[in-house]
Amino acid sequence: MTSVAPLVDPFGRTISYLRISVTDRCDLRCVYCMQEQMTFLPREELLSFEELERLGRLFIRLGTRKLRITGGEPLVRRDVMRLIETLGSEIAPGGLEELVLTTNGSQLARHAAGLYAAGVRRINVSLDTLDAERFRTITRGGRLDQTLAGIAAAKAAGLRIKINTVALKGTNEDAFDDLLLWCGREGFDLCLIETMPLGETGENRFDRYLPLSTVRQRLQSHWTLRRDAEPETGGVAPGPARYWRVAETGGRIGFITPLTDHFCDACNRVRLTCTGTLFLCLGQEDQADLRTPLRAGASDQEMEAILREAIARKPRKHDFMITEAPPTTQIARHMSMTGG
Ligand code: SAM
Ligand code: SF4
Repeated sequence: MTSVAPLVDPFGRTISYLRISVTDRCDLRCVYCMQEQMTFLPREELLSFEELERLGRLFIRLGTRKLRITGGEPLVRRDVMRLIETLGSEIAPGGLEELVLTTNGSQLARHAAGLYAAGVRRINVSLDTLDAERFRTITRGGRLDQTLAGIAAAKAAGLRIKINTVALKGTNEDAFDDLLLWCGREGFDLCLIETMPLGETGENRFDRYLPLSTVRQRLQSHWTLRRDAEPETGGVAPGPARYWRVAETGGRIGFITPLTDHFCDACNRVRLTCTGTLFLCLGQEDQADLRTPLRAGASDQEMEAILREAIARKPRKHDFMITEAPPTTQIARHMSMTGG
């Protein structure tokens, strides 16, 4: 492979991490993520497997070292395992270093072994409570036993697991102790996330917003938390979480605090939607349409020029804010569209 200049934005940040949302569809309807009734995109709007593969390879040639497959729920897309296998074959010294996945776990039981075989070693599973009834309420109909079976299968397959929990006032704020204990016992990292103002959900975000600074203080009243400097991935493309070691369990808890303490200075990522739009920041509208040139037959050189021009427009930071006065949604697109 000839060496190519990496993608570097105007603030000197090298873009080494790509997230691909392979579908906007999902089998759940989490209250902070989607509306109960969603209209999903028609099939022809979606990038095909071949188009996703081509863009994935192009990004890897331009310096992507970590690639995350997400959605919507990525495992509900029929050809997703084929894509994961193809991209997994790019894992090589000097090429892709890590292929990871974010999933709700509902379809994980039947895919866990295949993910490992394709080269995936770590996954994030979203789980906001260990209480079956509350799980059903938060996900608007999901089954906790299905997600737990998926997590068990992933562990048995040898995948390292991080549990992602969105902190919601009055909804799961009493669930964190159980999750922390369970994760410690199972050997999973736990990561709490502040709810972000993305997409209309039919709910008032201010009512649910729970600052993690408050949560950490509460946890520290009965758990011994020590700052853990080790990032998520040993430095390939560290994520935005700040981690703490829990003395009582030996496990780790991370906090993703886009609202109370943004993490943009070290941002190394961009996001590709299932329709081929490249978003340069989760919390800004800056974007580039890759599907039109792709479908018009652009060469790799032309696609590379389009990517470089887009990265030159990456904003310095997001401007998320959750306020009492409406609107409480700042960015119209849902997380499931941009890829969480
Ligand atoms: N369906 C998969 C899942 O739930 O893990 C992958 C996509 S989901 C959009 C990715 C992550 O985004 C999940 O951990 C979810 O909890 C989180 N998420 C969704 N909407 C969010 C919001 N408005 N604020 C914060 N996190 C959100
Ligand atoms: Fe689906 Fe994930 Fe959004 Fe929940 S957070 S509705 S599982 S895409």
